[in-house]
Amino acid sequence: MQPEKTNLLGLTQTQLQTFFTELGEKPFRARQLMKWIHQCGLDDFEGMTDMSRALRARLAELACIRAPEIVSCHTSDDGTRKWIVRVASGSCVETVFIPDGRRGTLCVSSQAGCALDCSFCSTGKQGFDSDLTAAEIIGQVWIAVKALGQTADGKNRAVTNVVMMGMGEPLLNFDNVMNAMDLMMDDLAYGVSKRRVTLSTSGVVPGLHRMIGRTDVSLALSLHAPDDALRNLLVPINKKYGIQELLGAVAAYMDSLPDTSRVVTIEYTLIAGMNDSRQQARALAQLLRKTPCKINLIPFNPFPLSDYKRPSAETIRGFQRVLLDAGFNTTLRKTRGDDIAAACGQLVGSVMDKTRRSARYKAAVDASAPAEPVRILDRVS
Ligand code: SAH
Ligand code: SF4
Repeated sequence: MQPEKTNLLGLTQTQLQTFFTELGEKPFRARQLMKWIHQCGLDDFEGMTDMSRALRARLAELACIRAPEIVSCHTSDDGTRKWIVRVASGSCVETVFIPDGRRGTLCVSSQAGCALDCSFCSTGKQGFDSDLTAAEIIGQVWIAVKALGQTADGKNRAVTNVVMMGMGEPLLNFDNVMNAMDLMMDDLAYGVSKRRVTLSTSGVVPGLHRMIGRTDVSLALSLHAPDDALRNLLVPINKKYGIQELLGAVAAYMDSLPDTSRVVTIEYTLIAGMNDSRQQARALAQLLRKTPCKINLIPFNPFPLSDYKRPSAETIRGFQRVLLDAGFNTTLRKTRGDDIAAACGQLVGSVMDKTRRSARYKAAVDASAPAEPVRILDRVS
């Protein structure tokens, strides 16, 4: 049997240098290869004209450049695009591109499904299937950049921001997510600034500690509740790592960044009658008084299997007002592009979960007719 070829798409610059050194080649080959793969969008070695024929043939024998398979691609009238891609386990995950003036944000998945089962999240309701490899994570960027026509000279930059807010909990797939984010920020690959790559977590405290010294990307925390009792209900991982411990870990990471002007983004999904009262807004302001942050309010997006509702516009505005009056920079995530079904944090994909949750999910989807159009969220960071 032929040995499995190494997929070079997911290797960082350092890993590629090791790969070439082991082949008896000079490490600078890594730089050449990265430009071909990530900036020119090549997925075969033939076109890599600055390498000898012999080296190209050797690479083709030992290695490949393989992005996940595109199952479908949808474009909204407002330019929002969604790709459904199949990963090695057979499950499908989603990637969403949201243009907003000069900004283009790509929402990337880190796992097929999610084990954390937050009560308001459709990904969580499907259970967990598998971690994505670094190649499957960066492959989503590779696919988007290629489809959007971003040129190698960087003049036509389509993807200016990346948010790890697709399917999955990024800190539970730590190494692959870190390596993929290294590639996003590498000037020989996508050159996205560290401020514009955002990792969103539901609160995996050990993962936050591991980030210190390993990365310097921006951080978003999915808080969603001002106290432990309610957060235990909405975000079950809170039973393991309570709010105070979590805010401590967030502070430790933010303090590890040399640039003191950077702040954590607090994500707060507003669910009618659960966490949307003015009193809860005041409690949130009190809780965050020592956390330099900006707050992003996300009106809940309904989906099958959930009885939760989105609060009225008036309630949402009232909640925001309390936070603004308390001095917090507080933004409201707008919705748009309801002609294709996609929303960051609400992604469905098609997960072959190991917990049998997805069977229940699919049954509920089939039973709910006609499905309410799912809106795409913009301004994700
Ligand atoms: N697992 C990570 C990243 C993916 S979720 C995390 O939880 O942070 C990205 C964001 O979308 C999170 O803030 C999540 O809480 C939010 N979200 C999930 N389901 C949602 C829904 N139905 N409506 C609105 N926001 C939702
Ligand atoms: Fe997982 Fe995030 Fe969804 Fe929670 S909100 S179930 S952590 S993807």
